[in-house]
Amino acid sequence: MATFDPGAATAAYMATLSPAAHAKAIAYTHGSEWLILWTCLVSIAASWLILRSGILRRLRERVDPDGRRPKRAVLAISAAFVLLTFLLELPWSIYTSWWRERSYQLSSQSFGSWLGDTAKALPISLIITTLFLLALYTLIRRAPRSWWLWASGVTAGGVILIVIIAPLFIEPLFNQYTPAPEGPVRTEVVRLAEATGVPHDKILIYNGSKQSDRYTANVSGLFGTARVAMSDTMFKQHADRSEVIAVVGHEMGHYVHKHILWFAGCMCLMAVVAFWLIDRLYPPTRDLLPGAAGVGGLADPAGLPILMIIASVLGLLSTPFSTTMTRVAESDADRFSLDNAHEPDGLAKALVKTIAYRASSPGRLEEIIFYDHPSVERRVHRAMLWKAAHPDRVGAPYGPLPRGT
Ligand SMILES: [Zn+2]
Repeated sequence: MATFDPGAATAAYMATLSPAAHAKAIAYTHGSEWLILWTCLVSIAASWLILRSGILRRLRERVDPDGRRPKRAVLAISAAFVLLTFLLELPWSIYTSWWRERSYQLSSQSFGSWLGDTAKALPISLIITTLFLLALYTLIRRAPRSWWLWASGVTAGGVILIVIIAPLFIEPLFNQYTPAPEGPVRTEVVRLAEATGVPHDKILIYNGSKQSDRYTANVSGLFGTARVAMSDTMFKQHADRSEVIAVVGHEMGHYVHKHILWFAGCMCLMAVVAFWLIDRLYPPTRDLLPGAAGVGGLADPAGLPILMIIASVLGLLSTPFSTTMTRVAESDADRFSLDNAHEPDGLAKALVKTIAYRASSPGRLEEIIFYDHPSVERRVHRAMLWKAAHPDRVGAPYGPLPRGT
């Protein structure tokens, strides 16, 4: 029997896409990488226009003329800021998240439907941002020296809270979630869930094709609200049993290894650094920025655009850290899928379908900076290495490998 060559098998999977399809994926991916920079510049420009207009300063003077009702001022200014940036950035959002996706055939959503989703997201972001800023400015006033430390704790707590409530209150606003229908695929998914200790009443299908043709699944929620959801695109693109099992196995890896807590921990650490830097950078930025006249110290909510400009730059600079944070978890989830679902070829077939929106073979530095998943070529190669190392496991009953293998 010929020996199995993981390198050749990986190359064969990469060759299932035509050179033209690879070229299009590369164009889309490189464009997306540049968009990170342009989006940062757009949000800086929007914040600066709002600052320059003096509208927030006048709002503060009207709502809180004598400085005795700071919470009211924060609420009014936060709401005004969210609404104004939404309007100023709307043309850019239309281009990046609707027009561009459609022009690459990654979405077939109508403009009306996209706008409907965007309009529904606005009040959610309004509530979350306003509450967060209320907590932030209260901390800045009460603990002017150590607010940045407390604020990072509030950020981590807020992230966890949003993750817990998202499957209950946020996700159903945008998509329909239904239990996976009875059938051979569901039976297999339930069997895998039982082998890995995942509650199998939590495996759902959602109409992801409404927004995007991306071949994808996800896990969201935490503790009692956690569930695995597969986009209906997986079934429209003729996923076979081995693909579905490999992808669901990957999502179960996120669930079983509680990656969401890893994200919350990393975000807490990044928030400590970011808030500390904001604390130090706010005064010189305010002094240097034209248009900041009449704006007070960090505790003045009218200085929110300055704070947001610094946060946008820090967000841009933190890209390699946040992508690495998720990339580490994605590698771990692939490993979990291989070790429990034993479908290296199913995983490879499913991964090949994601190349359309994530070019398969970036350079190492590009992967480290921009890729929130390891490159498809690397992931397929790891699956093939697993296959070579565990020839007797492929197709074996689901569940973890026995010790010592
Ligand atoms: Zn994943």
